[in-house]
Amino acid sequence: MLIFGYVAIGILAISHWLQVWKIHVHKEVRDISVWTYIFLLTGYFVLATKAFLDYQNAGGDILWFFRQMATIVPVSTVVFQIWIHRRDRWHDDRDTSCSGCGKELEPNWQYCPWCSTKDDGPVSEEG
Ligand SMILES: [Zn+2]
Repeated sequence: MLIFGYVAIGILAISHWLQVWKIHVHKEVRDISVWTYIFLLTGYFVLATKAFLDYQNAGGDILWFFRQMATIVPVSTVVFQIWIHRRDRWHDDRDTSCSGCGKELEPNWQYCPWCSTKDDGPVSEEG
């Protein structure tokens, strides 16, 4: 059934575009593994190459090659976004600062991820 191929590529493409949208809104990529997306991209390129060779040598459907492009485009976009936003950090005025190094801490963090100092409760930057 050819329809399953279209459905699978469609779902994969939508999932990657949702990630693109989330990065676009949040501009924070420290929790996203760039290697996951590089491996995904490599896998999709291999599948696209296989689809092209099948088309050339075995009379396969060239449509499979173009359907792989539907996943390669958003995954390339995610890798590009991770590179663009690699130094961007989420900022919230209500967050406290580390007493050791002064960097911003999330409300539920007990230890500073940069210098390992224990957070001694709410000491706001604004006083
Ligand atoms: Zn610190």
